[in-house]
Amino acid sequence: MTRPIHDISIAFAPGTPAWPGDTPCSCGWSWAMADGASVNVSRMVTSPHVGTHADAPLHVARDGAGADHLPLDAFVGLARVIDVRHLRGEITLPHLEAAGYLSGTVRLLLHTGQTVANGTFPEAWPTLAPATVRALVADGLRLLGVDCPSVDARESQTLEVHRQLFGGGAFVLENLDLRTIRPGPYELLAPPLAVGAIDAAPVRALLRPL
Ligand SMILES: [Zn+2]
Repeated sequence: MTRPIHDISIAFAPGTPAWPGDTPCSCGWSWAMADGASVNVSRMVTSPHVGTHADAPLHVARDGAGADHLPLDAFVGLARVIDVRHLRGEITLPHLEAAGYLSGTVRLLLHTGQTVANGTFPEAWPTLAPATVRALVADGLRLLGVDCPSVDARESQTLEVHRQLFGGGAFVLENLDLRTIRPGPYELLAPPLAVGAIDAAPVRALLRPL
């Protein structure tokens, strides 16, 4: 029996709420058949942070690696979805363990419920405490995925969670759509698009039950 594929992507498209002040996605035509051209060719202007995406270290460091150097193995493989919708503020390791976190998790996806998939940009969302990020990375974490717009708090200026992850060789997926996904283990397939040396890359993110 073939396993179902759950698409947990939020569209890289006009209408997807962008971070306030960032460039939203807009589309037009470079050539349009309605105007007599032989083909339709779209033109997109957008921040790469619209919809589901992977941040690169360049997002938080002037000399950080760009999205053309994201390691694919971090984004493909076993992942665990944990429901933290009941939590507010900083999430600690005991919170995660109570919600089903298992030691040695390589790819952790947090379902906060605060997502642009609901149609508006959320006011706030829970985030991992920096000490918890260090503990997870020391325990083998390579990828933190979230359904909210950032792994750091909306008001954060230091982006400490991003820095702790990148500093420990772990990576980031943001704006997942986990609304219909139950907690538990899955196979994650979420390679970033092959882009240039920009600070983030769009991702088509899929989960398959084990
Ligand atoms: Zn981002």
